Amino acid sequence: SMEYGPAPEDASEVNKWLDAHKRSFGHYIDGAWTQVSGSSFETRNPATGEVLAKIATADASDVDRAVKAARAALPAWQALTGHQRARYLYAFARQVQKHARRLAVLETLDNGKSIRESRDIDIPLVARHFYHHAGWAQLLDEEFPGYTSVGVVGQIIPWNFPLLMFAWKVAPALAAGNTVVIKPAEFTPLSALALAEIAQEIGLPKGVLNVINGDGKTGAAIVEHTDIDKIAFTGSTEVGRIIRKATAKTSKKLSLELGGKSPFIVFDDADLDSTVEGLVDGIWFNQGQVCCAGSRLLVQERVAEKLYDKIRSRMETLRVGSPLDKAIDIGAIVDQIQYDRIKGLVETGVKEGATCWQPEVTMPEKGLFFKPTLLTNVHPASTVAQEEIFGPVLVSMTFRTPAEAVELANNTTYGLAACVWSENINVALDVAAQVKAGVVWVNATNLFDAACGFGGYRESGYGREGGKEGMYEYLVPVHAERKTAAKTLPEPVIDQPEGFDEERSAA
Ligand code: NAD
Repeated sequence: SMEYGPAPEDASEVNKWLDAHKRSFGHYIDGAWTQVSGSSFETRNPATGEVLAKIATADASDVDRAVKAARAALPAWQALTGHQRARYLYAFARQVQKHARRLAVLETLDNGKSIRESRDIDIPLVARHFYHHAGWAQLLDEEFPGYTSVGVVGQIIPWNFPLLMFAWKVAPALAAGNTVVIKPAEFTPLSALALAEIAQEIGLPKGVLNVINGDGKTGAAIVEHTDIDKIAFTGSTEVGRIIRKATAKTSKKLSLELGGKSPFIVFDDADLDSTVEGLVDGIWFNQGQVCCAGSRLLVQERVAEKLYDKIRSRMETLRVGSPLDKAIDIGAIVDQIQYDRIKGLVETGVKEGATCWQPEVTMPEKGLFFKPTLLTNVHPASTVAQEEIFGPVLVSMTFRTPAEAVELANNTTYGLAACVWSENINVALDVAAQVKAGVVWVNATNLFDAACGFGGYRESGYGREGGKEGMYEYLVPVHAERKTAAKTLPEPVIDQPEGFDEERSAA
C-alpha cells in the first residue's frame, strides 16, 4: 500500500540497468562476463513476486576457472605496495557513493528491505567500509610488519545484507593483498553483480575479484576447491558446521560469522521509552533478518507489563508496506522459504505455550509481508527461546535479579551480540562483562562501524570483521619466497569530485 506520505522511490534507473543486461547475468570471472548457458535460476522481488533477472548457476568447472583466474592474478596484486592497493579501494568507495541511489534501489528490489534502510544505512556503510580498508592498505607495512596476504580467498555470503556483507568480505581481503572468489546468496545476487561492474569500471586488474553465483552446491564447490587458501563464510550455524567439517581435512584458513539469538536485557530502572525505540531497531530493522537482532527480550519482572504495553502501542504505529515506499518501517521477507520458516516457528511457539500478539496494522494485499510479532509467556527452554527465528518476531521472558538475567542471557548455544538497558551504569557494565557475546551494547543496539571488530563467540562463529582485528583474518606471517618483485599493473580510474585538485589535496 502506498498510502504513507512521499512518493515511492523511482525504480526506473534500476530497470534500465537490468534491461541493459537483458535481465540475464553470467559470472564475472577474470575481468569479463561469461555467457548465460547451462543451468540458471531466477531472482525475484519478494514484495511483488516479479522476476527481476535470470542468473547463471556456477558448477565446479566455473568455480575452477574463477579460482585459476584469482591464482594467476595473485602475484602481481600481492606485490603492489599497500599504498597502491589503497587507490583501488578508494576508487571503489567513490563509485559506490556515485551510484548510491541505483545500488540502494537494486538492493531493495532484490531483498525486500525498506528503501530508507538501504539508502541511509546499508549503502553508506558499504562506502565507509571500502574507505576504511583503503586506510588499512596504506598502513599495512607499518601496522602488520612480517605479515602478508593469505592468497586466494573463497567467500560465501548471506542474503540479509547482500552489499554490506560483500563489502565486509571483499574490502579487507583486497586491502591485505588477497585475490577473491565470492558467491552471493541465491536470493539476492544482483547488487554483487553491480559491484563487479564497478570493479570493471575502476580498472581493478582482472582476476583480482571474481563474482560467481549459485546456491549451496556452488558454495560447497568453493569450500572444496583444493587451490583456495582461505574460506570466509557468513550464514547459518548449520552450514557453518558443514564448512568446518569440510575444511578440517585441509590447511585452509577459516573464519565463520554465524547465527545468533541475542539477548536484549532491560532492568527496571531503564528509560523505557528509549528501550522501546531500541527494540524497534533491534528486532524490526530489516524485518528482523539480522544476525545480531535483539530477538530475546529479557525484562525485569517489576516493569515487564509496563514495557509490554509500551511495546504494543509502538508496534501499532509500525508501517508494513512496499519497500520502495520511503515511509515504511517493515518491508518484505526475502523469500517464501524464509517466510514459511518464520510462520512455522511462531506456530511452534504458540503450541509450546507462548502468547502471540500482533498489531492491527494495514497489510499489503500480496507479497511476502509478516506482521511485527510479540511472543510473551515464553519458557526459556522452548524452541522459540532457543532457535534463531530470523524474522520480525520478538520473544520475551522475565527475570528478577541481575544474576538471573545473566543466566538467561547465556542460556543458548549462541553468542553473537547482546545489549543491556539500565540507568545504573555500574549494573549495566557489570552485567555486560558476564554476557557471552562478541559485542555488548549498553543502552544502545545495532551500532556498527568499519573500525570496530564484529564477530561471534561460541556457536555464533569465530574470527572478526572490521577494524585491525578483521585484517588479521586475511594475513599470515611472511614466507621469504612470497617476496616477489613488483610488477606494473594499470592505474585505477578514479572518478574525482568536480573541481578536485589532486596535487593540492596531496599537499
Ligand atoms: P545459509 O547458511 O543458508 O546460506 C548462506 C550462504 O551459504 C548462501 O550463499 C548459500 O548459498 C551458501 N550455502 C548454503 N549451503 C552451503 C554449503 N553446503 N556449502 C557452502 N555454502 C553453502 O544462511 P542464510 O539463510 O542465507 O542466512 C541467514 C543466516 O546467516 C542466519 O543464521 C544469520 O544469523 C546468519 N548471518 C550471520 C551474520 C554474522 O555476521 N554472524 C551476518 C548475517 C547473517
